[in-house]
Amino acid sequence: MQLIFMGPPGAGKGTQAQLLAALWKIPHISTGDILRACVVAKTALGQKAKAYMDAGELVPDELLMDIVQERMNEPDARAGWILDGFPRTVAQAAFFDKLLCEVGTEGSQSGKDCAIRAVNLDVPDNVLVTRLLSRGRQDDNEETIRRRLQVYREQTEPLIEFYSAREQLVAVDGDRDMEVVTAELQQALSGDS
Ligand code: ADP
Repeated sequence: MQLIFMGPPGAGKGTQAQLLAALWKIPHISTGDILRACVVAKTALGQKAKAYMDAGELVPDELLMDIVQERMNEPDARAGWILDGFPRTVAQAAFFDKLLCEVGTEGSQSGKDCAIRAVNLDVPDNVLVTRLLSRGRQDDNEETIRRRLQVYREQTEPLIEFYSAREQLVAVDGDRDMEVVTAELQQALSGDS
């Protein structure tokens, strides 16, 4: 199982990705979590990333590419993974394609890895803002939230077309109870994996 979770901030990617990863016993790789841990640990990378995160901007692609490359080379990633928050730009997606060719994973014979699927969890903006404001993470103030949504629509949403054109897209309505969304994801992703 190789799954990319897309969707705007507050769509419930993290929650759903974590649940499914536990169920399928594969790692849940959240670039947001990795970056926040780097900020807390005050690593060089964390220090570079913090200002972008606090402003609701994307952290530069090069930093993310290093993080993901390192994480994908860990032994537990060989059996599969759920990526949450990456790729977030077309440049990151292109990089990731190349990386997968190099790393190779169990069950994948060639570079074009057809096993990958990209889930898009969509939720309307007004619902997202309400959800994020009640979550209260450090970067969850109204101004930053609006900026993150804008950045999402501009830089990340084009990936929906990218994966759709490759017939790897699974679209799920995220504006429903958590359990309903989980059940639909399980149904949509089981069977042909
Ligand atoms: P959200 O829950 O709002 O979708 P995340 O926890 O995934 O947010 O990420 C928090 C912040 O970390 C983002 O606003 C961004 O600054 C940074 N970030 C995470 N993943 C990436 C990425 N793939 N590319 C660039 N920046 C990222």
